[in-house]
Amino acid sequence: MSWQAFIQSQLSLRKRDFAWRKRTCIDFSTGRELHVSGEKYLNFSGNDYLGLSHHPKVVEAWQQGAALYGVGSGGSGHVTGFTQAHYDLENNLSEWLDYPRALLFISGFAANQAVITALMGQGDRILADKLSHASILEASMLSSANLRRFTHNSSLALQKLFTNPSEGKTLVVTEGVFSMDGDSAPLDDLHKLAQENHAWLMVDDAHGIGVKGREGRGSCDVYGVKPELLIVTFGKAFGLSGAAVLCDEQTADYFIQAARHLIYSTSMPPAQAVALSAALKQVRQADAARAQLNQNIAYFRKNIQLNEMRLAPSETAIQPLIVGDNDKSLQLAAFLRQNRLWGQAIRPPTVPPGSARLRITLSAAHDQQDIDRLLEVIHGFATK
Ligand SMILES: *Cc1c(COP(=O)(O)O)cnc(C)c1O
Repeated sequence: MSWQAFIQSQLSLRKRDFAWRKRTCIDFSTGRELHVSGEKYLNFSGNDYLGLSHHPKVVEAWQQGAALYGVGSGGSGHVTGFTQAHYDLENNLSEWLDYPRALLFISGFAANQAVITALMGQGDRILADKLSHASILEASMLSSANLRRFTHNSSLALQKLFTNPSEGKTLVVTEGVFSMDGDSAPLDDLHKLAQENHAWLMVDDAHGIGVKGREGRGSCDVYGVKPELLIVTFGKAFGLSGAAVLCDEQTADYFIQAARHLIYSTSMPPAQAVALSAALKQVRQADAARAQLNQNIAYFRKNIQLNEMRLAPSETAIQPLIVGDNDKSLQLAAFLRQNRLWGQAIRPPTVPPGSARLRITLSAAHDQQDIDRLLEVIHGFATK
C-alpha cells in the first residue's frame, strides 16, 4: 500500500464512523466562559474546576517568575534546568500531600509514561483498571511488562487477577476520579489488596487533586490511603499544566537515575513553577470554591430531565450525559453550541463502543443561572 493510500483509507474510516477529530481555534477561555470567533459561550467542557486559570495572584506569580528567571528553563533538570523555583515547588507539594518526595514532570502524560516504563520490565505485571487513561494504558503496552486490565472499579476482579501467580513485581494502577466517567475508584479496597499481595498501588489523581479531600488533597485523602505512587497533574483544578509524582526517597532517587522523560527533556519553565506554588496556595485555601462546585454538581444532578439519555453515576465535576451513538452525541454538542453553550462530544475509542456522550464539566466559576441555562438547553434537545 502506498503512503497516500494508507493515509486516505485511515481518514475515510474515521469519517464513515463519525469519529473524525478536529480542533477548534478559540479566542480564550476561563472556567466559566469560552470565546470563539468573537462569540461568547458558557463553558461546560473545561477542567478549570476551581476557576484558577485566570486568578490574579497566579498570573502575577508567573509574571514575576518570568521577570526573574526568563521564559524557559534552558535545559533538562539533569543539566541546568532545575532551579530554586522547582525545588521549592517540589517541597511545597511533598509537604502538602505528606510524602517524602515530589518530582516534577512537564505533563501528566509524561509522568505516567516515565513512571511505568522506569519501573516495569520483562516478567513484571501491570494490573490496570479497564477505563484507565490513554497515557497509562499506552505506557503499559510500551513497557515489556504484562498488562492485564480489570473490570472498572471492581476490587473483586482485581482479586481474581491476583490468583494467577507472577514471578516479577506487580503494579496496580487506577485513577482517583475517572476522566471520562467522573466516578471514583475504591482506593481503600484496592490498596488493601495490593498490600496483601506485595504489590504497589499507583493512583493517577488528575481529576481529584484540588477538588476533593481536606485542603484539596484529593481522592487518597478522602479514602485515607497513601499509595506508593501518587500522580497529580496541574492542568485541571490547578488551572496551569505540568504534573508531579509523589513517592518515597529511594524511589525518587531511582526515577532521577532511570526516568527518561526527566533526563532527556527540558524541564518546565521556572516561572511556571513559581506560578504553580502560587496556585497551590490558592488550592489549599479554596474551601469556598469547592463548596460552590459541589453545590453546582448537586443542583445539576437533581434537576436534569433525561428522557432517552443516561447520566453516569458521578458525584464529581465530570458529568457524562450518555446518548449511545456517535452521531447523536455530535448533534447534542452542536445543539448546545447553537444555544451558546460549549460541551464536548466524546466518542469511541476514547470511551467504549455504544457509549458516546456529551462530557459536561462543571466549575466553581459557574453560578446557578449558568446551570439553569444548561438544564434548559439539554431539556430542549431531549424533547425536540
Ligand atoms: C489529563 C489527564 C492526564 C494527562 O495529564 P496532562 O498533564 O494533561 O498531560 C493523565 N491522566 C488523567 C487521568 C488525566 O485526566
